[in-house]
Amino acid sequence: MAYATINPYNNEVVKEYPYATDEELREALTVGHDLYKTMRHQPVAERAKILHNVAAKLREHAAELARACTIDMGKLLRESEGEVELCAMIADWFADHGEEILTPEVLDTIATGHAQIRHSATGVVMMVEPWNFPYYQIMRVFAPNYIVGNPMILKHAANTPTSAQMFADVVLEAGAPKGALTNLFLSYDQVTEAIEDPRVQGVALTGSERGGTAVAQAAGKNLKKNTMELGGMDPFIVLDDANMDDVIDIAWRARLYNTGQVCTSSKRFIVLDNVYDEFVEALKEKFSKVVPGDPLDPNTSLAPMNTKRAKEKLQKQLDDAIAAGANVVYGNEPIDLPGQFFMPTILTDIDRNNPAYAQEMFGPVAAVYKVHSEAEAIQLANDNPYGLGGIVFAGDPDHGTEVAAQIETGMVFVNNFMVTLPELPFGGVKLSGYGREMSHIGEMAFTNEQLIVTADKPNLDNVAGGLVATDPVTEPVK
Ligand code: NAP
Repeated sequence: MAYATINPYNNEVVKEYPYATDEELREALTVGHDLYKTMRHQPVAERAKILHNVAAKLREHAAELARACTIDMGKLLRESEGEVELCAMIADWFADHGEEILTPEVLDTIATGHAQIRHSATGVVMMVEPWNFPYYQIMRVFAPNYIVGNPMILKHAANTPTSAQMFADVVLEAGAPKGALTNLFLSYDQVTEAIEDPRVQGVALTGSERGGTAVAQAAGKNLKKNTMELGGMDPFIVLDDANMDDVIDIAWRARLYNTGQVCTSSKRFIVLDNVYDEFVEALKEKFSKVVPGDPLDPNTSLAPMNTKRAKEKLQKQLDDAIAAGANVVYGNEPIDLPGQFFMPTILTDIDRNNPAYAQEMFGPVAAVYKVHSEAEAIQLANDNPYGLGGIVFAGDPDHGTEVAAQIETGMVFVNNFMVTLPELPFGGVKLSGYGREMSHIGEMAFTNEQLIVTADKPNLDNVAGGLVATDPVTEPVK
């Protein structure tokens, strides 16, 4: 797909961007690699200073960045504003904590000398990012890797080129050297070529299984370390003693935030039978209150989906789910606006043979399941190919934690909305991918964990027998 900003609120083609040339890719690799070599000798504190500047510049340009993001992919302006601020927080956090995370670790060992693990940069990271959080997805990779000293090449989604370029421009304006983050409008083949290049040492992708499989395949073929942040069908479990006011207050937001286009949106509501009817009625009521309209207008509470293609895909999935027996308790009606609007919809009666049982629906469609026991809720939550996040509502938070620990996903929140912050690791298991972004774990995604053992002089006494070569002079082989 060619790179273009097409406003999903009114379908206006705002700006088209030509693909990068092969020469531009070659130059980005050369500049990035040279920068890697330079940054290896640069104190981390100098990069921390730049990262604080990035945060300051993001805040300075917040209004224009937020507007561009909303026009690129349609999200509510206030959500775009929140995203810009979150990015600034992430940059500040890695500026403040990144160096400490890189402190060498001293090892307790019987080896002679002083053993330590030093964490250092490895080289250029190729990052491939999706459109749903145009800035935050970049920042999750950029801040930790910049602190480490890994330069980056960015291939952003075809429908968010304006946001991608604006982010890269802010980084340069903040004083980061050329090559720290090079945004290129790459074709899929060029992404593969970058991954094949020996100067690229890491590959980070956030996206779907389709994109993830292709990029992970190229990374695997070239033995490049990679992280995959993929889709999710997060469960939202409501136990029989949950506070239902809290549940309702969070449930609709957990599904409709960003028009439901979030990897960690609650896509499956798994509700105990005693509170099921109350839950469905209240969710219907909340869904019926949202107001579709211009996402730049503060009175709008339902934004369009990001593209016509995404809306059509969701409608097809919904039609297939209904054909396979799902019951529509609310929604699935057209919205009389020219943009890519999708009416919030609630489905029930999805059985195990229904395609909707195991397929991620990336938009405002909630699947609600009735269960008769906590054990059944956990079993249903785990009977899924994905394993990204989840929410558990329980009357007793400690018991909620015990239930959370039985959910096979990378992140679970008890009695609250799911949050993402720089200090919290982000990522999943199963088809939701592998590796973590952000936090101290994310900072180590593409570092060299270099072991250095320093002795004053050789000492062969304490080394396990078979690992020491026999001295040919004093101990001839018999
Ligand atoms: P996608 O199609 O996989 O696109 C993501 C990125 O991968 C885009 O930049 C896309 O470029 C690129 N891409 C796709 N195929 C590629 C290939 N063969 N070679 C190189 N690059 C390729 O994902 P999406 O459907 O737009 O995004 C939504 C998905 O992302 C959902 O499944 C969602 O759950 C997941 N997601 C996961 C997380 C997480 O942290 N786990 C966060 C957000 C979203 P083009 O745009 O040019 O196709």
